Amino acid sequence: MGMNRRKFLKLAGISSLGVAAKPVAALAAEDLGFTIPETLFHLFHKPVGFKAGEALTAKRWAMVVNVKNCPEGCKACAETCHRVHNVPDVAQMKSRRHEIKWIWHAKYDHVFPGRKHEYIEEALKKIPLVVLCNHCENPACVRVCPTKATFKRKTDGIVLMDMHRCIGCRFCMAACPFGARSFNWVDPRQFIKEEEQNREFPTRMKGVVEKCNFCAERLAKGQIPACVEVCRKATKKKGKEPALVFGDLEDPDSKVRELLRSHYTLRRKPELGTNPNVYYIV
Ligand code: SF4
Repeated sequence: MGMNRRKFLKLAGISSLGVAAKPVAALAAEDLGFTIPETLFHLFHKPVGFKAGEALTAKRWAMVVNVKNCPEGCKACAETCHRVHNVPDVAQMKSRRHEIKWIWHAKYDHVFPGRKHEYIEEALKKIPLVVLCNHCENPACVRVCPTKATFKRKTDGIVLMDMHRCIGCRFCMAACPFGARSFNWVDPRQFIKEEEQNREFPTRMKGVVEKCNFCAERLAKGQIPACVEVCRKATKKKGKEPALVFGDLEDPDSKVRELLRSHYTLRRKPELGTNPNVYYIV
């Protein structure tokens, strides 16, 4: 009875989100005992994959951005991320104020305001640096969310959003010291062309906050984040090593750990104590 009740409550929780009884890509979730739609995978605290063992897992996902490996003018990471996550194109919006950003580029001065000085290397001043949610170890956004719409996934430290629980209060945006979150001031769906929409990822509605999710939905299928994948291709074409490297910070043999061992790295605003999981080699 206990188990049945638990399953029922989980099912009821999902049903209350408006899930159709026979979703297109319904998949068996071995630990739940019933099927859930692929578009809701990102909400689960535990990665759920197509097949047991197929999901990419880690104790603490992290990213290393090797700034000087970014090919000049390359924006492939941001374009790909926004395309696969149905982020509307700002060029189509009436106001830049309405822009939604999951990953974008900013100047060194802006990314590391506490570390600028007039003698900094000229090239570094000019290179646009990749910025995204830092998936902080101690996320300020999570602490202030009144509905737990944003939460840190216990298994791997990814900071996620449950759009269905977001009430649009924007406390998380005020708390995040990195400007990593965007608010949907207008209905974003009107700016996404039908034929360009990624049907495997949910679109959002007006009045909710969103941000990078470290491609939790792709990790669940055994795929690396879209930005990292496209970066590998873009840098390879230019004969460079990837600028974006993703891996498990808790695994001493991972590529991210190797890079952190062999390079001096920076993190954004470490003095604020959020403990970012995105590192920069400058
Ligand atoms: Fe939260 Fe901002 Fe840290 Fe991302 S960067 S986890 S939004 S505090």
